[in-house]
Amino acid sequence: MKKLLLLGAGQAHLDLLSTLASQQPADVQLTLIAPYPLHVYAGMVPRFVAGQHALENCLISLEPILKKAGARWLTGNAAALDVKENTLRLADGSTFGFDWLSIDTGALQNRQQIEAVMPGAREHGLFVRPLEAFCALWPRVTELATSRPMRIAIIGNDLMSVELALAMRQRLPGSAVTLLAGTGGLAGAMVPGHEQRILKILREHRVTVLPDRVVGIEAQQVLLASGARLACDVPIVASAGSAPAWLSGSALTLDVHGQIALDVFGRSISHPKVFAANEVSSRAKPALTKNLLALLAGSPARRHQSAPDHLHFVAYGQRRALLVWRGLSMQGRWAGWLKDWLERRYLRRYRRD
Ligand SMILES: Cc1cc2nc3c(=O)[nH]c(=O)nc-3n(C[C@H](O)[C@H](O)[C@H](O)COP(=O)(O)OP(=O)(O)OC[C@H]3O[C@@H](n4cnc5c(N)ncnc54)[C@H](O)[C@@H]3O)c2cc1C
Repeated sequence: MKKLLLLGAGQAHLDLLSTLASQQPADVQLTLIAPYPLHVYAGMVPRFVAGQHALENCLISLEPILKKAGARWLTGNAAALDVKENTLRLADGSTFGFDWLSIDTGALQNRQQIEAVMPGAREHGLFVRPLEAFCALWPRVTELATSRPMRIAIIGNDLMSVELALAMRQRLPGSAVTLLAGTGGLAGAMVPGHEQRILKILREHRVTVLPDRVVGIEAQQVLLASGARLACDVPIVASAGSAPAWLSGSALTLDVHGQIALDVFGRSISHPKVFAANEVSSRAKPALTKNLLALLAGSPARRHQSAPDHLHFVAYGQRRALLVWRGLSMQGRWAGWLKDWLERRYLRRYRRD
């Protein structure tokens, strides 16, 4: 019996598992390794932060999905991969062999790298990733804010950071919310028109944007490259995620960002028994489900068709949203409604009996 090991309960693996519920492969042992029995649906986290959803509404339980797919779940965190021996070692020291491995562990915030450029981040910062830990800690911030207004600083410049800043403003109207966006502009490569639109929304919702770089975090203050110090009770480290450090020792070929370099079939270019998807790989959304189903059926691999660009939403205010798609950005109540509808549809897919 062949062993297919799925590492990480990311969105691509949920898609594969739910498809396998109706077409279970013969002679394949399917195992999912993930640290938590629940998947946090990242797109809904801002609504949770804003107080518009309970955390339970943003979670997908893995157990029924695994059961229907005929897969087993092992709790754990990958710590090392040996592609010569086809083995994966977990943080607790246990080792698992595989015939094929698929990796969908999402982006991580490398604490060591962040600490090197922002000393004090580890001790004083609240990291957004892993989302599971962030979601467990956020209620403590809101609880503290019941006794006094908080000074919150979100360190990051991408759409996720913007959305979290707006969500925090919504949840804590009496607190100061500042976005420390660095000097490279908002959300990296976005066209200037988008940036102006986002800045306007931030202004209207009393989120202060400081185009300054954080060079350190101390108790009650954030140190900026300009020499200024920002008084801050809760520094939220939302800076962009990176590929996990354990990949670098794996002998897999990685791209310049440290992510797994994939071929047109969604496989590692150096080790074709290893597949990957989403933020841990060099391809935004490879058709992992189709490629793995073909593999399990013994069919020839199909070239990956690049998927259409993803919709990015930035929720704000009372159920409004900004929608960013390709070169366009649009906003309003209808975009908020569309975001809600897509989220409900996504959750329904994994929660139906
Ligand atoms: C607040 C927020 C808003 C967002 N809004 C949008 C949006 O509007 N549009 C959009 O396209 N994208 C958005 N994103 C990004 C989007 O959600 C991510 O692209 C998506 O979650 C990536 O999914 P993934 O499959 O790569 O991994 P994830 O969904 O992050 O899942 C990773 C899984 O791997 C597990 N894992 C992690 N490390 C290990 C390990 N070492 N060993 C085993 N398992 C591990 C985790 O526990 C988790 O189960 C948003 C993200 C956030 C945080």
